Amino acid sequence: MSGTQPTLAVEDLRTAFFTDKEIIRAVDGASFTIGPGETVGIVGESGSGKSVTARSIMGLVDSPGRILEGSSIEYRGEELVGKSEDAYRKIRGGDIAMVFQDPLTSLNPVYTVGNQIREAIRLHRGLEGAEARELAVELLEAVSIPDARRRITEYPHQFSGGMRQRAVIAMALACDPELLICDEPTTALDVTIQAQILELLQDLQDERDLSIMFITHDMGVIAEIADRVNVMYAGEIVESAPVGDLFDNPKHPYTQGLLESIPGRHPDEDRLRTIEGDVPTANEPARDCRFAPRCPEAFDACEAVHPVPVDVGQDHTDHAAACLLYPEGSTEEERVERHRQLGNAAERVIGGETDSNTDGEEPQTAADGSGGEHR
Ligand code: ADP
Ligand code: MG
Repeated sequence: MSGTQPTLAVEDLRTAFFTDKEIIRAVDGASFTIGPGETVGIVGESGSGKSVTARSIMGLVDSPGRILEGSSIEYRGEELVGKSEDAYRKIRGGDIAMVFQDPLTSLNPVYTVGNQIREAIRLHRGLEGAEARELAVELLEAVSIPDARRRITEYPHQFSGGMRQRAVIAMALACDPELLICDEPTTALDVTIQAQILELLQDLQDERDLSIMFITHDMGVIAEIADRVNVMYAGEIVESAPVGDLFDNPKHPYTQGLLESIPGRHPDEDRLRTIEGDVPTANEPARDCRFAPRCPEAFDACEAVHPVPVDVGQDHTDHAAACLLYPEGSTEEERVERHRQLGNAAERVIGGETDSNTDGEEPQTAADGSGGEHR
């Protein structure tokens, strides 16, 4: 991917919800890129910050949430953080489209499916009448809906769950996006339909050179679809690798735990292995490893030093893990010191804005009251 401009470059994204009780750091310093035609997976248990990452990119963070100063989301080199709602409306749909877990959140029950696809076509491609209708039929055919010409006259409730999700994907494609963000699009579907939808997404990607950001809690799905994987835990990306490396050579104990709990991994055992405990709510700046309380490999320093991503790649693979067990080949003391120093350096870069204040208060970020409160 070197040399080409990424479709999306997310750098130190921090999105927090300022509730009466606490500041929830839903996304806490996430960085990743998505290249043209690439499928990048974001995987992690429920509550990891996957959906908030997606909504941040789409400019759809709800109050009391906001993207913190110092965060950057570049779409083909253009900064999205801080754009006006008007500017975002053009990007959403036209450049970046999103498919949610529940297709009914995207479909209006009182209009026919055809009506809704034609409306997306009108808004984003400026086509109306017979032209729009033909394109709507083509799109339904592209997502393998049989008898598309009749189907466009039907209402969402006349579609099965799998067909509805196909219709939503058709609506997303109506805008001819460069980047498609899929947030658990197959979670509500049974496995056969799920496999069909994954295959469909792959075919569409090949045809259209789409970049895809694919969110799931399911490692099996990630194995099917992703080129590259980011493992997310409590707002942070704890491991990032090409999909083959992640599965062959997982480094972070959290990733190892997720892989161990894939159904069928241990056919001789009748109980599914799981990682005990839950994802904690990140309501303080990270000063330790948020996974440490659940980690089978944790040692004392894990509760005192915040691990930062370090290179764990073999043979020049682009593979990083944020864990005090790495880099391999140095002593525990050296490793801990390295993470401490890298963490301190990162804190200096983000400066006075957030985490360097130890009192846990979120300082006001913009004198004019708007600059720091991107929505
Ligand atoms: P995931 O998609 O990985 O399951 P989310 O991105 O939905 O996780 O949520 C990450 C964290 O942000 C969770 O702790 C969740 O409770 C919190 N969160 C999400 N949306 C809101 C909101 N509107 N207000 C307050 N907290 C929220
Ligand atoms: Mg989610």
